[in-house]
Amino acid sequence: MPRYYRIPLGICNSYLITNNRQCILVDAGTVGREKQCIDALNRLGFDCSAIGLIVITHVHYDHVGSLRALKEACQCPVAVHQKEAHLLKSGEVVLPAGTNMTGKSLMMVGNMMLRIHPQFFSFSPVEAEITVTGEMSLEPFGISGSIIPTPGHTEGSLSIVLSTGEAFVGDLAINYLPFSLGPIFPPFADNADNLLESWKNLLDRGVIKIFPAHGGSFPAQKLREKMIKRSL
Ligand SMILES: [Zn+2]
Ligand SMILES: [Zn+2]
Repeated sequence: MPRYYRIPLGICNSYLITNNRQCILVDAGTVGREKQCIDALNRLGFDCSAIGLIVITHVHYDHVGSLRALKEACQCPVAVHQKEAHLLKSGEVVLPAGTNMTGKSLMMVGNMMLRIHPQFFSFSPVEAEITVTGEMSLEPFGISGSIIPTPGHTEGSLSIVLSTGEAFVGDLAINYLPFSLGPIFPPFADNADNLLESWKNLLDRGVIKIFPAHGGSFPAQKLREKMIKRSL
């Protein structure tokens, strides 16, 4: 049975998923967090050589900031959706659209910051060995589960779904409000309709627990409640 651990790297959670011998890492945090990540791996009893794959849920600066350094330390392949492989390879920074007034306002500020201080969002380019186009089994990496495309936050967003019902979803869902008030509908997404379709896809697959990149885990049932509220 796979085991998993949250490794916060800056504002973004990375996750280690393991069968106790082989491991995969999901996302690579903000820039300069590689030592923090390796220290966390060591504390969990693993070294870099145990990492057989790094999966990038999508190419936003807060998920790929330490990717190149971690890839070099772990000497392992990287998987990303084919639709975002060119962004990763070129180091091109894109920001998502806002889905509500707060998100739209924050993105106006974000885009302004990107023009004035591009270094704040920059990351080292990485050429991915694996470009994902459809469901991809993780069995070759020792993990009982698969990578599935879950577009919405970005066109090439990916989730990792384990056979035991856990889903590691990147920014497909957000849960960073205090006092257990979340999850909230993501304030940032390129296509809100696709995002809801991806939630439905996860629920149809029988996912029971959601692990977002921002905030703590929560029962997948909460996505269904959010979907019902939005449709009323
Ligand atoms: Zn994102
Ligand atoms: Zn993010």
